[in-house]
Amino acid sequence: MSENIEKVECLIIGSGPAGFTAAIYAARADLKPVMYEGLQPGGQLTTTTEIDNFPGYPKGTDGTAMMEDLKKQALRFDTDVRFGMITDIDLSQRPFKTKADDGKVIMAETVIIATGATAKYMGIESEQTYNGYGVSACATCDGFFYKGLDVAVVGGGDTAAEEATYLAKMCRKVYLIHRRDELRASKAMQHKVLNTKNLEVIWDHTTKEITGETEGFSKKVTGATLVNVKTGKEKEIKVDGFFVAIGHKPNTELFKDYLNLDENGYIVTKPDSTSTSVEGVFACGDVQDHIFRQAITAAGTGCMAAIEAERFLSH
Ligand code: NDP
Repeated sequence: MSENIEKVECLIIGSGPAGFTAAIYAARADLKPVMYEGLQPGGQLTTTTEIDNFPGYPKGTDGTAMMEDLKKQALRFDTDVRFGMITDIDLSQRPFKTKADDGKVIMAETVIIATGATAKYMGIESEQTYNGYGVSACATCDGFFYKGLDVAVVGGGDTAAEEATYLAKMCRKVYLIHRRDELRASKAMQHKVLNTKNLEVIWDHTTKEITGETEGFSKKVTGATLVNVKTGKEKEIKVDGFFVAIGHKPNTELFKDYLNLDENGYIVTKPDSTSTSVEGVFACGDVQDHIFRQAITAAGTGCMAAIEAERFLSH
């Protein structure tokens, strides 16, 4: 049994921009971090194609390439990156006891949680077929590619309202498709939506199918078939981009019994810090940020988490 117990200074859970940035900083501070990459190595960015807004890539890059670069950088400083999942954790006392799916029991002096959030999707097949090729869950990331074109946004909350108004500034026409006849978004956002000229709300409709064309490896969205929930009548719209904005789910299931979470399940961190409600446990990236959700902000908080872990250990 003892050969399976490992003591580490810093365990990083998750491998998006937050996790890898934490790894780079922790490794350079000689914390010898061990990282478990999780279910989706590289995180949400690996589901997007081009990334044009991460500083340092003047010609842009693609999500998977960027995450490979971040991984190489973390490996250069000897981060122990492991393909696998942490399946169990006890944050009630230090060192924190965790179990991984490779059978290892890890006793960690500090834990950096960078498990991210998962965008919710409607669950129709075509959504996955065109994901990254016209279907996106992030207007700030991908809106630019639809400059002057027509797009649709699904959802009726603040995210959908924000994404639709953001897209309306650069797109020719934006359809906001909502399954009810009133928005869930705040009054201020509703006002913005209803007063944006090139934004049309399609009330009481769900999406039956996203339509598109596939040619070899190239795919593109061309429209969507919508269904009126009251009459059952179908309606076609022509769009070049389709944005799903029906919410995100933070990946906090493993930690919910130990850490303070907000009403939507995000880990609560102290102001100007990545400290959680348990000393020695830090959270960075989308698992604690439902507002910005950008690779660069995730990387920023990953850096903070590693510096805070290092300071915590040296006290
Ligand atoms: P919400 O859960 O608030 O809204 C989700 C929306 O998507 C709802 O309108 C819901 O419809 C719709 N929806 C859910 N599932 C489906 C589905 N399968 N098909 C079609 N539509 C669906 O999520 P948000 O991401 O908008 O917001 C999350 C939280 O973050 C909220 O508290 C929000 O206020 C906050 N936020 C704040 C911002 C700000 O302050 N600037 C910006 C963004 C978010 P229905 O209404 O019928 O349930």
